[in-house]
Amino acid sequence: MRTPDQPVLRDIVLIGGGHSHVGVLKRFAMKPVPGVRLTLICRDTHTPYSGMLPGYVAGHYSYDDVHIDLSRLAEFAGARFYRAEATGIDRNTKRVTCKGRPDVPYDILSINIGSSPRVNEVEGASEFAVPVKPITGFNNRWLALLSRIENHDGPLTVGVVGAGAGGVELTLAMQYRLKNELEQRGRNSDQLHFHLFDAANEILPTHNAKVRSVFRKTLSDRGIKLHLGSPVEKVSEGLLRTATGDTLQTDEVLWVTRAGGPAWLAETGLALDDGLFLRVRDTLQVENDDNIFVAGDIANVVNHPREKAGVFAVRQGPPLADNLKRLALGKAPRDFHPQKKWLALISTGDKYAVASRGDVQFDGALVWRWKDWIDRRFMAKFTDLPPMEEATTLPDTGAAQNAEEASQAISAVAMRCGGCGAKVGSTVLSRALSELRPIERDDILIGLHAPDDAAVLRIPPGKAVVHTVDFFRAFIDDPYTFGRVAANHSLGDVFAMGAEAQSATAVATVPYGIESKVEDVVYQMMSGAVEVLNEAGCALVGGHTGEGRELALGFAVNGLIDPDDVMSKGGLRAGDALILTKPIGTGTLFAAHARLAAKGRWIDSALASMVQSNKKAADCLRSFGSKACTDVTGFGLLGHLVEMTRPSGVDAELDLSAIPVLPGAEETSAAGILSSLQPANIRLRRGIRDQERWVKHPRYPLIFDPQTAGGLLASVSADKAEECVRALKALGYPYTAIIGRVTPQDESGPIEPITLKE
Ligand SMILES: Cc1cc2nc3c(=O)[nH]c(=O)nc-3n(C[C@H](O)[C@H](O)[C@H](O)COP(=O)(O)OP(=O)(O)OC[C@H]3O[C@@H](n4cnc5c(N)ncnc54)[C@H](O)[C@@H]3O)c2cc1C
Repeated sequence: MRTPDQPVLRDIVLIGGGHSHVGVLKRFAMKPVPGVRLTLICRDTHTPYSGMLPGYVAGHYSYDDVHIDLSRLAEFAGARFYRAEATGIDRNTKRVTCKGRPDVPYDILSINIGSSPRVNEVEGASEFAVPVKPITGFNNRWLALLSRIENHDGPLTVGVVGAGAGGVELTLAMQYRLKNELEQRGRNSDQLHFHLFDAANEILPTHNAKVRSVFRKTLSDRGIKLHLGSPVEKVSEGLLRTATGDTLQTDEVLWVTRAGGPAWLAETGLALDDGLFLRVRDTLQVENDDNIFVAGDIANVVNHPREKAGVFAVRQGPPLADNLKRLALGKAPRDFHPQKKWLALISTGDKYAVASRGDVQFDGALVWRWKDWIDRRFMAKFTDLPPMEEATTLPDTGAAQNAEEASQAISAVAMRCGGCGAKVGSTVLSRALSELRPIERDDILIGLHAPDDAAVLRIPPGKAVVHTVDFFRAFIDDPYTFGRVAANHSLGDVFAMGAEAQSATAVATVPYGIESKVEDVVYQMMSGAVEVLNEAGCALVGGHTGEGRELALGFAVNGLIDPDDVMSKGGLRAGDALILTKPIGTGTLFAAHARLAAKGRWIDSALASMVQSNKKAADCLRSFGSKACTDVTGFGLLGHLVEMTRPSGVDAELDLSAIPVLPGAEETSAAGILSSLQPANIRLRRGIRDQERWVKHPRYPLIFDPQTAGGLLASVSADKAEECVRALKALGYPYTAIIGRVTPQDESGPIEPITLKE
C-alpha cells in the first residue's frame, strides 16, 4: 500500500471490476489526481476477460491468462481494493452497502458490475442450470465437470440454453475440450452429446447471414444438435423440457440467455429499464444522478443502444476515467459516442475463428491467431504493469467544489500540531466510535459505556491477569480488514498463554485529512477491530487516536487465567510433538504484494488466515494437555521456537517438508522477495545445527519469515498429537500439522538447539 502525500479530498468508489473499471484503474495509475482516492469494491479478486473465456474453456489458456488480478492492479493504481459484494446504494448518505463489511462512503460512484442470465424466469433453472455468469460460479462447475469425466463412463449429455454469440462459442469450446479430454484418456468421445436450445428461429441474431451460416455448418459438422424455436420452459434434476413438448435427459444444463441486472438496483431509486439495466446519459452518468456513472453490460446508454458485449465495456473505460476525473475536479463531464459497427471475432473452439463486422465475414485459423494476438495484447496492459509516474503536484484546490471544502483542504495540509494537539479531534472520534457496539462484561466496572480517565476492571477471585501489547502499521489499503487483523494479532498472545481475553485498549494513528475522511477511516478500522474483539468476548474499554503519517493500530489486551492453566514458552518436554495451527508466509507475501509480485488469490488466502482467531485452537491444545504454546509472529517460526527451547532446556527437530505454507509463499521467497524484518530474524540461524547444509532448501527462508496474526506453535505429548491435529482440523484449522518434535538437550555437543530435517 502507498500512503498518499496529499490528504484525500474526494472519494471515487468503483463497484465491480469489469472491463471498463480495469481501464479506469490503469488510467488513474498512469496519471493520478492529487487528493482523489479510488476504492474498488469487487466480489472477485480475479476478473475474467470475456474475449478469452471460450479459449480458456477449450483449454488453450490457463486461468491466469484470462483473468485480470484486481488486487495487483489496484495496488499498482494506488487504489484501495475491498473484496466484497455490493448489495445496495444509499444515495441520501452517499454510501454503498456491502455484504459482510461496513458501508463505503463515496463522493462519486461508478458501477460496472456486468449482468447475469435470468435463470429465475424459467421453472427449475435457478436450481438445476448453471448460469454462465457470475463466471466464478460457472468456472467452479466447469472444473467439477472436467474432473467428473475422469471417472465417468457411458454417455454424457450437455444442454446449452441460449444460441447468441456467447452460447454458441461456449458450446463449441466445451465440446472441443471434453472430446479432447476423453480421447487423451483413450475413451470414446462419441459418448458426448451436446444440444443447443433457443426460443428464436435463428442463431447469432446480431450477426450477418454469412456468419450464421458458417456457425450452423460448424455446429452440424461437429454433431451438436440445434433446437431452434424451442423455448426451454422447465429444468429439473437431469431433465430439460421445452415449450414444444420435447424433453432431454441431461447431465449438465448451462444457461447463456438474455441477461439482466441484479434485483438490488431496484431499491436504489436509480433510473432503470425493465431489464434492470441502468439508464445512462451520453456522459455515462445515470439519468437521475449526476454523481453516479455506469458502464459495461449494466449500462443502457439510452441514445446509443448497443449489444451487450465486452468490447463496448472496454471502449467506455477511457471516457469514463476522464469523466470521473473531470467531475472530481469540478468540471462538466463530456459526451461519449460509441462506434456503430464493431468487429467480433468468434471462435469455434479448435483454434479457428470467424470475423464478423456489419455485413462482412471471413474465417480461418489465421483469424484465430489474429484474435489471440489482440486478446493477449489487451491482457498484457493489465499484467505487464509499467513503472509508475510519480505525482508531484500539490493538491489542486480546484478539486474542492466549494469554498468550504477548499478551506478544509487547506487547513488539512496546514502544519500539524505534535503532542496532545496531534490527537484526532474529539468530535470526529466520538462520531466515528458512536456506531460501534463493543460487548459489555460484568467485570468491567468502568469502560466505554461510562467513559472516564481510565477503565476499571474487576479480577475474579483465584484468577491472574495476563497483559500484553502489540502495535503495527497498516500493510493493506483496507482499514476494515486491517482493523480485524490488528485486533486478532493482539489477541494472539493472550490465547497463546491459555487465557480468556477480558479487555482491550486501542492505540491508533490515522493520516491527517478532512474530517469526514478521517472519521470514516477510524470507523472502518475500529468496526473491524470491534467485531474481532466481540467474537473473542473481549470488551474494548478505551483508547487513544493520534494523527500520523501512516495508518497504524495496536491494542493492549488484558486476559484472565487460572495460574495453574498457563501455557508458557518454557513448558516444552522432550518427546513431545510440535504442532503448528496455521500456515506461514505472510511476511514474504505482503512484501511481494507491495512489489506487485503476488497474485491476488495468494493475498486473499493470507488475509483469510490472518483474520482467523487462535482462540478455539488454544482451547483445543489445552484440552490435549499442552503446557507449552506461543503465537508465531514477528520473529518467525524459528525465532519463536528458539524462544521456547531456551527456557524449556530442550532441543527440537523441525521437519521442513511438514511445515504448512501459505499458497504463493514458496514462489515469492524463491524470487528473493522477503520482509524487511527477515535480515534481523536470519541472525537466529546460529541456533540451527549444520545450517549451511539447509541454506538452499526452498523452505529455509520461510522459517525466518515474520508472521502477522500467525498460528499457534505448541507441544503435545506424542501419543496424543495425531488426534489433536484431527481435532484442530475439525475446528477449522485445515493446515494444522505436526512439524517436528522436542528432543533432550544435547549437553555434550555444540549449542545449536534446532536440528532441521526434511
Ligand atoms: C461465453 C461468453 C463469451 C463472450 N465472449 C465475448 C467476446 O468475445 N467479446 C465480447 O465483446 N463480449 C463477449 N461476451 C460478453 C461479455 O462477457 C460481456 O459483455 C462483458 O463481460 C461485460 O463486461 P462488464 O465489464 O460490463 O462486466 P463483467 O465483465 O461481467 O464484470 C463485472 C465485474 O463486477 C463484479 N461484480 C458483479 N456484481 C458485483 C457486486 N454486486 N459487487 C461487487 N462486484 C460485483 C464481478 O465480479 C466482475 O468482476 C461473452 C460472454 C459470454 C457469456
